[in-house]
Amino acid sequence: MSDFGLAVWSHRIKQFGAQDEVEGHVAELADAGFDLIIPCVKNAPGAVDFFTDVADVNPEYPDWDPLKVLIEACRARGMKVHPWFCVFTEGDRSKLLREHPEYASTTEERPHWACACRPEVQDYVFELYKSLAERYRPAGLHLDYIRTGGPCKCEFCRGRMSDEGVDIGEAAPGTRPFEAWTQWRVGRIADFVRRMRGLTSDEGIELSAAVFSGYPDCIDHQGQDWVQWAEEGLVDFLFPMTYTQSVRVAVMRTTAHLAQVAGRVPVWEGLCKRASRFSDCTPQELAEQMRAVLQTGAQGVVVFSYGSLKPEDFEAIRALKSDQS
Ligand SMILES: [Zn+2]
Repeated sequence: MSDFGLAVWSHRIKQFGAQDEVEGHVAELADAGFDLIIPCVKNAPGAVDFFTDVADVNPEYPDWDPLKVLIEACRARGMKVHPWFCVFTEGDRSKLLREHPEYASTTEERPHWACACRPEVQDYVFELYKSLAERYRPAGLHLDYIRTGGPCKCEFCRGRMSDEGVDIGEAAPGTRPFEAWTQWRVGRIADFVRRMRGLTSDEGIELSAAVFSGYPDCIDHQGQDWVQWAEEGLVDFLFPMTYTQSVRVAVMRTTAHLAQVAGRVPVWEGLCKRASRFSDCTPQELAEQMRAVLQTGAQGVVVFSYGSLKPEDFEAIRALKSDQS
């Protein structure tokens, strides 16, 4: 097996524990061959786990600065950190929606969302990313929930589409008005990714994104056209969330992703050790999925998530990594 990238999503930065424990976690990951850690620092409720003036800092975030300590510990071992935002989710700890309740999306999806298409919402999240990039100088930034939370029918969206002659209250899937509305939503999400590309280019850092495994259905359903982002060169890595218990499904999805992206950017398949909607993978099952998607041609693997990895998982991953020629 040739060299491959290896990353892990860490659901909460507090999984790295107290200040004197961070180095131990980083050493464990480095020893198993991980190149990249993706810690969630803007969770679905909307408060953030880093110091900034733009959003409310999570009251549970300690006086010492876990993100800073993590970035420094990783840098010392040649590992990268891409801080992760749930981009457009804004829940009960959202400064944005507390100050501007009219920016809420009308989608009934959980968690709660801000209207991803609104310029003010995009400005807010962009300034938040910018404040992080300038303060912490990470190796890159990571996009998640980079989509619309279902088709939003807020006053802004209704008004904007009404200007185009589309009544979104009446637009049914499969009709021309619905397609016009979909294309507009896809364009608004792409506008934000394009802006993030500008920021990361200016800062000389990378941009990665967690994306739906089921392309192109995510265009219609979530306004997310990640192949277009690859075609435009807007991202440095794509991480499709290929969460499954089935090796065959993982291989088929990987085959599709590689064909769709056509080598424009590296595809690292997101594989699930454990998540609420998926059962546990044993260390052997996870290693088998990793081997299968890499042999299919994926350039790397991202494991979800750090908190669910046990010593025997690290052992299996280390063995796989040491197999590469
Ligand atoms: Zn809206």
